[in-house]
Amino acid sequence: MNNRQLFLSHLAQTTDFPLLIEIEKAEGVYMYGPDGKKYLDLISGIGVSNVGHRHPKVLAAIQEQLDKYLHLMVYGEYVQSPQVKLAKALTDTLPSQLDNVYLVNSGSEAVEGALKLAKRYTNRREIISCINAYHGSSHGSLSVGGNEIFKRAYRPLLPGIRNIVYGAFHHLDKITNDTAAVIIETIQGEAGIRVACKEYFQALRKRCNETGTLLILDEIQAGFGRTGKFWAFEHFDIEPDILVCAKGMGGGMPIGAFIANKEVMGVFKNNPLLGHITTFGGHPVSAAASLATIQVIQKENLLDQVEEKAALFKKLLVHPIIKGIRNKGLMMAVEFESFGVLKPIIDRAINKGVITDWFLFCDDSMRIAPPLIISHTEIEEACRMILEAIEGV
Ligand code: PMP
Repeated sequence: MNNRQLFLSHLAQTTDFPLLIEIEKAEGVYMYGPDGKKYLDLISGIGVSNVGHRHPKVLAAIQEQLDKYLHLMVYGEYVQSPQVKLAKALTDTLPSQLDNVYLVNSGSEAVEGALKLAKRYTNRREIISCINAYHGSSHGSLSVGGNEIFKRAYRPLLPGIRNIVYGAFHHLDKITNDTAAVIIETIQGEAGIRVACKEYFQALRKRCNETGTLLILDEIQAGFGRTGKFWAFEHFDIEPDILVCAKGMGGGMPIGAFIANKEVMGVFKNNPLLGHITTFGGHPVSAAASLATIQVIQKENLLDQVEEKAALFKKLLVHPIIKGIRNKGLMMAVEFESFGVLKPIIDRAINKGVITDWFLFCDDSMRIAPPLIISHTEIEEACRMILEAIEGV
């Protein structure tokens, strides 16, 4: 059996339409099949490879750590240099009150930890989240998700969850003195890149303050430079009480975090109530890769380039069947009439050598989230192939 047949017969299938391309190597913005076919990666493994595939600085940090140790002990017992250096570098990118980092392995786990923390700190049980939000696939993170079709089969989920409409001012009064936390994606990703306005976030922050509710911002997709700021909340002049991140954080390695201030995080320390435990969270190799990723974003001035690169995509992707482009930096959605129109375009584009995708809750829009290191020439090449794919349908 070849690898494609093994994939179909032995790997659990999770989607109706797997992209089904085989990749043997990846470097920068390109991925290569076993036959040498070259693909320009416009989705970065869904917002993961923000600094490109196998960035040399990330590889060097991984190698250096490989020569020292792999796993030593569950999280939070031994002093491990990659974890403490990462925690310091992360908090340096953040407002001073977000000074305490809990490292985990993934986005869903970061959300789980944040929800538990909010319940413990406030001693309240109600969580408010948004319609069309995606926060992960574990039971807790799915419970605060905002897509009923995805949740239906798994009910009963966590009790005490109420949904509001992302961006809707008139729903903010649903946040009350009984609400432990509001969890919200700063930019809604899987809903197809929806961006609420600055005034909304400021009103949300105010309402949370009035009611003693913790504001959890999910920047698992929008963080690490994707929108042109290191953190997307910087666009809106607000600060979360708890921030969750993952994906782009590891430069291609699995790692995530929930971040709060020492006082909030301190409730996890109170014995005999169990706080939060993870065996692999903040794995030293991933932590070393993550620290290097932060340094690359900063030293290569990647943030400064995001806006003009996004503008170039928008300038070039013009065609009568493109209905519009929604974006915040290089988190982009190109809208078509329907999935029926979009799917053959994505397939043809892959044949030509450029990889795009659609969104979990928005299948009429093409996902574009390239590595931030993509060059102008590569953007031109990508857009040319997408337009050819459109013409060929
Ligand atoms: N939150 C958001 C906004 C996400 O985009 C994702 C992943 N798509 C998650 C949470 C879950 O992250 P993970 O897949 O690493 O569990």
